[in-house]
Amino acid sequence: MCNVIVVGGGASGLTAAIFAARNGHRVTILEHKDRVGKKILMTGNGKCNLTNMSDFHGKYYSSDEKSLQRIYDTLVRFGAKDTRAFFEGLGLYTREKRDGCVYPVSEQASAVLDVLRNECGRLGVRTVTDCAVETISSQKRGGRVGVLHCAKNGDKRKETIAYDKLILAAGGNAAPASGSDGSGYRLAASLGHRLVKPLPALVQLRCEGSFFKSVSGVRAQAGLTLYIDGRAAALEQGELQLTDYGISGIPVFQFSRLAARALDSRRACEVGIDFLPFVQEADRDSFVRRNFDNAAFGGKTVEELLSGMVHKKVAAMLCRRHKIGAGVRVPEAGKKAARGCMEALFDFRVRVVGTNPFENAQVCSGGVPIGEVDDCFASRLCKDVYLVGELLDCDGICGGYNLQWAWATGAIAGASV
Ligand SMILES: Cc1cc2nc3c(=O)[nH]c(=O)nc-3n(C[C@H](O)[C@H](O)[C@H](O)COP(=O)(O)OP(=O)(O)OC[C@H]3O[C@@H](n4cnc5c(N)ncnc54)[C@H](O)[C@@H]3O)c2cc1C
Repeated sequence: MCNVIVVGGGASGLTAAIFAARNGHRVTILEHKDRVGKKILMTGNGKCNLTNMSDFHGKYYSSDEKSLQRIYDTLVRFGAKDTRAFFEGLGLYTREKRDGCVYPVSEQASAVLDVLRNECGRLGVRTVTDCAVETISSQKRGGRVGVLHCAKNGDKRKETIAYDKLILAAGGNAAPASGSDGSGYRLAASLGHRLVKPLPALVQLRCEGSFFKSVSGVRAQAGLTLYIDGRAAALEQGELQLTDYGISGIPVFQFSRLAARALDSRRACEVGIDFLPFVQEADRDSFVRRNFDNAAFGGKTVEELLSGMVHKKVAAMLCRRHKIGAGVRVPEAGKKAARGCMEALFDFRVRVVGTNPFENAQVCSGGVPIGEVDDCFASRLCKDVYLVGELLDCDGICGGYNLQWAWATGAIAGASV
């Protein structure tokens, strides 16, 4: 029997603790927030999209092809079906909804956390909260962690705890209010691990243009193309949300990590918004001509013409950008200006200047390179240490893929201790 210390009581840490304890080890979770699993409660808008039944290929990112293959191999060993079976074994039933997304039948993230905590309790896993792991010193066998206990009354106390095996499950930098404040990266680096620069992912994009204030709050079903250095890098479709600083919504989140990494390497980023994705590319000319003629002969204003196709705020903004006054009718505006406005609806370009910070991000891209852990997530650099979850250089798109990675790596590492 080993003394296993798990640093971080998030999705990966709780799973690792359960699998290690099932093998008969004495397991302690050290968590620096006042309770474990805070981020789990925030997932899926409080419903917890805990995995996805669709093919996982193409849903994850890492820095190279080899690492990506390692991610896929991991998900073959512990995939969505295994996750559902694991939770069903804990008494939590799940349901597959749209696009393969799986939720607890109760649609309550708290139910997911409850079964994990109950199982930890049943297995005798010790959970210590309000304590931050500050240092890890590895020894010939096992090692020691330096812990800072912070009592509710503000008292602080330092302690050193010995371990035979350590599972570092401290997460990344995203949503630091939930506890993942980047200290996992510092601890991994102190053991000799490299870091692929962590950047926010699944996050809103900040764009150039004072006009955003006038369209803030608009939601539209749109097609979006991300251009990096002028070349199309990703295509998404879904509900776009316009904000006073830029763009948000699931389709934006899906390619935000590509934009974040491109901007970090000083490449130019643009997003082309197609506000009329229901018009096929081949039909666009005739669509514009038909609507222009109808509006011209019917005496509509340009703004009225556009308001039949997009949100009024967007129509007004486009008219202003094309210098067409509010009451100007289509024939008065002239063919070129009115058509120009309509054509802009198919490819409205905005320049991306940044992402929102880690505080707003759902995950981090980057982290400890996957090549620095073995197939069981044991560090190749530091004996008796495992690294799991978001701390590693793996990030998935929206849809349950990130939690799936956390469960899978936690389960494999915990079972192999
Ligand atoms: C708003 C939001 C919604 C999301 N929705 C979904 C979703 O529906 N589906 C999905 O698949 N993914 C979702 N995600 C992403 C998913 O939650 C994460 O990828 C996943 O929780 C990562 O698990 P983890 O165990 O690696 O890290 P975390 O869950 O971040 O856990 C790390 C834990 O370690 C603790 N810790 C950190 N440093 C220390 C230290 N030094 N000492 C002690 N403890 C420490 C932290 O307090 C934390 O409890 C969402 C994320 C957010 C922010």
